[in-house]
Amino acid sequence: MSVLNISPIRAFSDNYIWLITRENEAYVVDPGEPEPVTRALDAASLRLAGILVTHHHFDHTGAVKALKEASGCDVWGPPDSPAGPYDHIVAEGSTVSVLGEDFSVLAVPGHTLDHIAYYSRGEQALFCGDTLFVGGCGRVFEGTPPQMRASLSKLTQLPADTRVFCAHEYTLANLHFAQLVEPDNADLSRFLSACEKRRQNNQPTVPSLIGDELAYNPFLRWDSPAVRQTLADAGRLIEDTPDGVFTAVREWKNNA
Ligand SMILES: [Zn+2]
Repeated sequence: MSVLNISPIRAFSDNYIWLITRENEAYVVDPGEPEPVTRALDAASLRLAGILVTHHHFDHTGAVKALKEASGCDVWGPPDSPAGPYDHIVAEGSTVSVLGEDFSVLAVPGHTLDHIAYYSRGEQALFCGDTLFVGGCGRVFEGTPPQMRASLSKLTQLPADTRVFCAHEYTLANLHFAQLVEPDNADLSRFLSACEKRRQNNQPTVPSLIGDELAYNPFLRWDSPAVRQTLADAGRLIEDTPDGVFTAVREWKNNA
């Protein structure tokens, strides 16, 4: 039973800063820009009580200093982070209490080496930054493809009803790419139609569910015979292993 209210604050062109509230208290996840956060807090008369950071990129941390100075709130974030140090350094196995609800920290390196995610069983909620996207995953900037796949694999072990609060609205582009990788996936076509409707109405497609991602996200489907066949037919599958499949899909998307 979730007790926290979670809603998106739009920032830059396609970022979501997640606003977590309980009564008049709020946390934000990955604030890259201060103004949209301040507007959202003021509009609902909320007090900023904390900031969670998933990784160091500027579009996730650019507003941390200003919001902390304005509110006096504490900041949680990963160790060895170029945007740190934070008030509370958290890593795999750490627990963060967010407005009374426990979130556990998962290390998910790959997109960056400092990348962490925050997960609550009680809230059925995962804040995964730029690791897992709806229908996609982050680019592998600092880690290696096998490291990224291990991080994604860790997220797929979470309960199927876990809501995936990622940090970007990249869904339609991701799902169009997914159709190249798996043209006959009926779950994918259905989900793409649903997401197109949501975007036409200017609604977010985020969050999705972990259980659904397993059915259509090509970056999680390294065991799919159809995906492996497409890659083999295209001459893209250098090594028919889970890491080889993931690497080939990631390479394809990088150059698509
Ligand atoms: Zn990033």
